[in-house]
Amino acid sequence: MSLTLVEQIARQSPAPPVEPVTSEVPDHISPTAAKSYLACSLRFYFERVLCLPRPTSPALHLGKSIHAALQCFHIALWRGGDCSPETIALAFDGAFNALEKDEGPIAWTAKKTREKAREDGLRVVAAYLDSPEVAKEPPKAVEVFLHENIDGLSVPLTGAMDLVRQDLTPVDFKSAAARPDSDTAAFEHEIQLVSYQLMLEAATGESPPSLELVYLVKTKTPQVIKVTSPPADRHRKERVVRLLETAVKGITAARFHPQPGMQCSWCQFRKECAAWKGGAS
Ligand code: SF4
Repeated sequence: MSLTLVEQIARQSPAPPVEPVTSEVPDHISPTAAKSYLACSLRFYFERVLCLPRPTSPALHLGKSIHAALQCFHIALWRGGDCSPETIALAFDGAFNALEKDEGPIAWTAKKTREKAREDGLRVVAAYLDSPEVAKEPPKAVEVFLHENIDGLSVPLTGAMDLVRQDLTPVDFKSAAARPDSDTAAFEHEIQLVSYQLMLEAATGESPPSLELVYLVKTKTPQVIKVTSPPADRHRKERVVRLLETAVKGITAARFHPQPGMQCSWCQFRKECAAWKGGAS
């Protein structure tokens, strides 16, 4: 998500962790930001408003490196470039090293942890290239960024899709440590998938025939799992727009508070959260 006015203000005037924020309407909302806000608004505040620095988690670093390798593959497929496994492995290694330098430090627990993450990444990328789910025909678009006005949403909706197939199906790639539950995966990622549908419909006037997630699972023998869901009907679309608007309204009102749950086990702001005394609405 690019810097919103709220974030710019916070960066210019670093405040104590839980000082109240006088906010304004964000200039846009992305499904990632909305999901983050709705999961825990206080973590959103620490991470995206105050931009408190934290080491990048190994899982996030690996996910970004895998994403960069797949992007390289899909762009080569799109433009008729070199899609060979050797070239894509080099793209993975290049991203793994460059991201560590540019976005680090990474919270490695030991040198061998770093090497294991690198090997896991290479194996899972190779598994995708060798799987039935690999993109075979040139896509319609790769890493397409959209910024669209949507009925019922008070600010533009933005987002970058990993891949859009020729038939307009948006695809999002996820790296995961365990095999996902196919029945719940699409529901868990509904804000993202339906947001993509809304943006594609606004941009092209056409509806995608399906919405797709492709999981790259870092098990000992890597797995590639495709999860598809039908395009959202009117009710699902309205539901997602209401969720997005709830996030916009909450950010605008500077409504940030702890929302304890499963996400606390991997939250990097527990110390700041424990110090929370109210105040940020
Ligand atoms: S520890 Fe839990 S409740 Fe507190 S900020 Fe993190 S996710 Fe939210």
